[in-house]
Amino acid sequence: MPTLSVTRIWRFLPIAIVGTRRLPQSLIGVCLGPIVLVSREYVRDQPTLIHELEHSKQFFKGGLIVHFVRYWLSTDYRLKVEAQAFAAEIAACPSHIALSRFHESARALSCGYGLSLTCAQCEVILLGYLNPNVAQN
Ligand SMILES: [Zn+2]
Repeated sequence: MPTLSVTRIWRFLPIAIVGTRRLPQSLIGVCLGPIVLVSREYVRDQPTLIHELEHSKQFFKGGLIVHFVRYWLSTDYRLKVEAQAFAAEIAACPSHIALSRFHESARALSCGYGLSLTCAQCEVILLGYLNPNVAQN
C-alpha cells in the first residue's frame, strides 16, 4: 500500500510525497509537479526528497507543462534542472556521505538521462552547481 505525506516548498505550497513500489525498476523518484512519487526504500531519504522537491520548484518556476515539455525535448534544459536537483541533493547530505553521493550523482547523471556525457564531465558540471562562485546559465 502506498504511503502519503505532505511537505511544503517555499513554506506555503503543499507537495504530496507518495511512497510506492510501483515505480519502474531504475527509478528512485519521479516529480509530477505537486506530486512526488518515491520508491518506498527512499521515502525517508532526505537528500532524495530534496532532489525531487527541487524538481517541484522547477515545475512551478518553469511554467508547469512548459517545464515538462522542455525537460523531455531539450537535453540542455534536462542537464540544467537535473544538475540543480543533484546539487541540492548533495548539499542536503551529511558531510560524511556527501562525497560518495557526489560520485553516485555524477554516475546517475551520466547514465540515466540521455545526456551523452561521461561521468567525469558530469562531476565537473556538478561541481559548478555546488560552487556558488561559478556562474550558472
Ligand atoms: Zn532528477
